[in-house]
Amino acid sequence: MNILITGMAGFIGHAVAKRLATDGHTIVGIDNLNDYYEVALKQARLDDLAAYPNVRFERMDLADQAAMQALFAGERFERVIHLAAQAGVRYSLDNPHVYAQSNLVGHLNVLEGCRQQQVPHLVYASSSSVYGQNAHVPFSTADAVDHPISLYAATKKSNELMTHSYAHLYGIPSTGLRFFTVYGPWGRPDMAMFKFTRAILAGEPLPIFNHGDLSRDFTYIDDIVEGVVRIQDVIPQGDPQRQATAPDQSTAPFALYNIGHGSPVALMDFVRALERVTGRTAQCNYQPMQPGDVPRTWADTEALFDAVGYRPAVGVEEGVARFVEWYRAFYQV
Ligand code: NAD
Repeated sequence: MNILITGMAGFIGHAVAKRLATDGHTIVGIDNLNDYYEVALKQARLDDLAAYPNVRFERMDLADQAAMQALFAGERFERVIHLAAQAGVRYSLDNPHVYAQSNLVGHLNVLEGCRQQQVPHLVYASSSSVYGQNAHVPFSTADAVDHPISLYAATKKSNELMTHSYAHLYGIPSTGLRFFTVYGPWGRPDMAMFKFTRAILAGEPLPIFNHGDLSRDFTYIDDIVEGVVRIQDVIPQGDPQRQATAPDQSTAPFALYNIGHGSPVALMDFVRALERVTGRTAQCNYQPMQPGDVPRTWADTEALFDAVGYRPAVGVEEGVARFVEWYRAFYQV
């Protein structure tokens, strides 16, 4: 298949592109290579993909309407895997407009492109952050009690709503994936796993928010990739002939899934795993809860399992070891 991947220089985009290229698909990847974190890491991910003749990269901003129109006018895509976004909860407090451009205008441009050529399946990234701070655990897409508490989370929830409207109006089969704290090789320097590893290897203190009273459903990158690759072949059908008869019913070809490990890990247990793997003792710099952050996340994985017969499998101990091994080799420390 000819597959468009947005955000291909990003953590998840790179991993998904590599897997789909290995499976023999033709990949067109776009990214604006912004400097939210180390551009050199994004470039290194692209260099890693350069070995695949079936992967092509174009530097492009999602929010550039003309460029996005030209992209979709230029060739036909059998799948659109939309992973580009301005990520990060904390950064959204100081840089709200970036989120509006990349995550709202950018998402609209992707939807318009999908409409323009009636893409057979749009798969896009949402986030566990849409659930907010008081959702029942484990978090289920069926509960619909989302109360985002950061602008980042609000843009991700908006993406789901915008997509539903396009799925309903134009019949574009669409699947949103709520990812839960992804970590692993080629990971993001703004996230805990990366920051903690960098600090512990440098003998510096680890910033521990909410005085350590946080838990996350840490999900290993390969598990995310497996979920994305499987779900792109499960095309939601919808039922346009039927009238919705209940408030929670949709007749659009629209689906939402969590992709998370399915077991929350206390932040301090995560730190202990890192200590064991590195053989170092962490100095912890305990800090208050950050505004916009949620105290815990926990994915219900049943819907994903029902759809694709798969649930994430890599546990924290193994995942941390694989990350640290990559980190040491990549940064030569
Ligand atoms: P990332 O920041 O590594 O990747 C996103 C990529 O998109 C980056 O390379 C960035 O340069 C690119 N990008 C941003 N704005 C753009 C724009 N306007 N035009 C073109 N490219 C742009 O993040 P990631 O961790 O790979 O996340 C991928 C997706 O998954 C994002 O939508 C993110 O919100 C979502 N997500 C990630 C996590 C996680 O734990 N990593 C959790 C939940 C949701």
